[in-house]
Amino acid sequence: MFARLRGDFPILDVRIGESPLSYLDSGATSQKPQCVIDTFTEYFQQRNSAVHRGAHSLAVEATDAFENGRIAVAGLVGGKPEQVCWTKNATEALNVVALGIDRASRGFGGEAAQRFALGPEDSIVITEMEHHANLVPWQQLAASTGAQLRWLPVTDSGELDMTDLESIVDETTKVFAFTHVSNVLGTINPVDTLVARAREVGAYVVLDACQSVPHMPVDFVGLDVDFAAFSAHKALGPTGLGVLWGKSELLDALPPVLTGGSMITTVSMDQTEFMPAPQRFEAGTQPVAEVAAFATAVGYLAEVGLEEIFAHERELGRLLLDGIAEIPGIRVLGSAPERIGTVAFDVDGVHAHDVGQFLDSQGVAVRVGHHCAQPLHRRFGVTASTRASTYLYNNAEDCDRFLSALAEVRPFFGVAQEGE
Ligand code: PLP
Repeated sequence: MFARLRGDFPILDVRIGESPLSYLDSGATSQKPQCVIDTFTEYFQQRNSAVHRGAHSLAVEATDAFENGRIAVAGLVGGKPEQVCWTKNATEALNVVALGIDRASRGFGGEAAQRFALGPEDSIVITEMEHHANLVPWQQLAASTGAQLRWLPVTDSGELDMTDLESIVDETTKVFAFTHVSNVLGTINPVDTLVARAREVGAYVVLDACQSVPHMPVDFVGLDVDFAAFSAHKALGPTGLGVLWGKSELLDALPPVLTGGSMITTVSMDQTEFMPAPQRFEAGTQPVAEVAAFATAVGYLAEVGLEEIFAHERELGRLLLDGIAEIPGIRVLGSAPERIGTVAFDVDGVHAHDVGQFLDSQGVAVRVGHHCAQPLHRRFGVTASTRASTYLYNNAEDCDRFLSALAEVRPFFGVAQEGE
């Protein structure tokens, strides 16, 4: 099945100079199957309209497409369609939660929002492996409210160090925000254990699911998280669309950050009442074509099967790790056994940007830099790394081409030792 579905992705036929493309950068953004591209185009050709307010046929069709997107996403990650709020991306979704808590801490949102209010006596806990999108908003919230920011450290193997979990997440903790899967190391975190600790102390759990939802079966209801965020573009969908998922009673109590049209029940000159979720978080004209296309992407993922996608990528990840182990002068960051098919590494004597350019000259697309995780790179004593990340359309040939090119990097830059 996986060999066949490569044909669904037109971009895989693009050549990079003389070489075929081996796209190993899906951790940054995924490629799109033709059916997703078609839904996007067809929306503008046949259904384009503003949603919700129109009395005409096109508006009804556009509204159906938009609301069906929520149903599709709820089918993917659990919960009810009204628990799915559209945002611009995962970064915005995480900011909506952090800034909503900030507003609650300043007295906005009435009594219902006071459950979120933070002060200097409280703490927010994150981890050392967070993407900046799930780090900076919490740092800002701590600075704004006076709450203490704490974090779980990362071990040499690239896993969360749980030794001091009980003292780091304690009775002062109001928010515990962590990533399901590291975008650098590929490590899958033990969400159950982390949620259990949050429940013991009454903290809200915010899950960054950017690197899990596209790659493995994920059930937010089963995981019992309070809020979760991910981006459509990493899961075969278009750019410009993210999901904020939450428990209904929490979403309905969280003060919105963006206000204006389409999110109100009544407005007078001096006061406004907001709609319940999801509309309270969807001010202004919405990305309807993106939602329609994402619904198609979700259907595609479901048809292939997330269990199967997970197994396929783990197999590719294993090929990458085994192959890299044969190449001298390369240090892989982290060695967690529970992982997705993402591998970040440091090439001794060659800067990651040079590694990336050399691989590109062979048609292999990887990501280089700090991958928006500077503290994690500092933890491993590097400022940058090279990351290969797989998805359902990759195959063993992509891995072989990557490994052959990688083996040439140090000799090419003249840093390979005699006899290597
Ligand atoms: N969190 C993780 C773990 C990610 O990998 C990313 C993207 O790389 C993000 C958050 C931010 O996603 P976006 O840039 O789509 O908002």
